[in-house]
Amino acid sequence: MNDAVDFHLHSTASDGVLTPTALAQCVHAAGVKLCALTDHDTTSGLEEMACAATALGLSTVTGIELSSGWHGRDIHIVGLGFDPAHEAIEAAITTRATLRQARMGAIAARLDRAGAPGSEALARLDGVANPTRTHLARALVDLGAVANLPAAFTRWLGRGRPGHIPTEWPSLEATVTAIARAGGVAVLAHPMRYMLSAGQRRTLMKHFRDLGGGAIEVVTGGMAPHQIETSVGLALRAGLEGSVGSDCHDPSLPWHRPGRLATLPKAVAPVWHRWGATWATAREL
Ligand code: AMP
Ligand code: MN
Ligand code: MN
Ligand code: MN
Repeated sequence: MNDAVDFHLHSTASDGVLTPTALAQCVHAAGVKLCALTDHDTTSGLEEMACAATALGLSTVTGIELSSGWHGRDIHIVGLGFDPAHEAIEAAITTRATLRQARMGAIAARLDRAGAPGSEALARLDGVANPTRTHLARALVDLGAVANLPAAFTRWLGRGRPGHIPTEWPSLEATVTAIARAGGVAVLAHPMRYMLSAGQRRTLMKHFRDLGGGAIEVVTGGMAPHQIETSVGLALRAGLEGSVGSDCHDPSLPWHRPGRLATLPKAVAPVWHRWGATWATAREL
């Protein structure tokens, strides 16, 4: 049994492998009834997603995953149910697009210096509107520089590796405020994936809540049962609602398959009550 909800999905508008239309079909086939496309720092796939979803009888809310900074760490904030035409969201996207374009060249130069084919990989990204490290990682795999995507991060692109450059993403405060101004709810993405101590994680939750954050992802792709328990504790302690999202980039990868997630534990209020779906009905929709 799982919730018929998936509020964290990626398409070809960022670093997912499926077009928004193909993703809507995949999610619908997996039994999801209510979803949000949450591409990194872009809303460009939302219209196509909504059209495809409507044709299938799949309900959607607007979504985005905004890159954000907190004490030198990249923290991802999912925005849900906002007005995509609002100037606060448009400004948030424009700022990040500029940062992304600049950092890709810098990463490639660092890779070149460290002996990896950075410039060659970058050349393969020509025409990618919203480049991410995943795009570079895939290019490194295609060039034979690494065996697979995870290896591209552990060897070259991850934190502390030769191709990693810290990015000055907009602050948590600016991010949460932009989502709220556009009428949406801010959700802290995959809280267990950040390299933080238990105390730092609790501080982050409290700070996020004080800024106006509404929920955290209590259930997300690839989570172990004990991590779900820990995130339930984090949500309850901070007085935040819970969200559920696969963070699917590629449905052929089993850990992040949509429609296969654990149920949101009853102790946590589901963020989707905001769009008229009650806890009970979300499961049966
Ligand atoms: P960026 O937003 O450009 O920094 O890219 C971040 C994206 O890289 C994440 O959203 C993931 O999709 C991907 N990523 C980060 N670390 C890993 C990893 N260890 N293995 C595979 N993909 C990763
Ligand atoms: Mn990604
Ligand atoms: Mn993320
Ligand atoms: Mn994501």
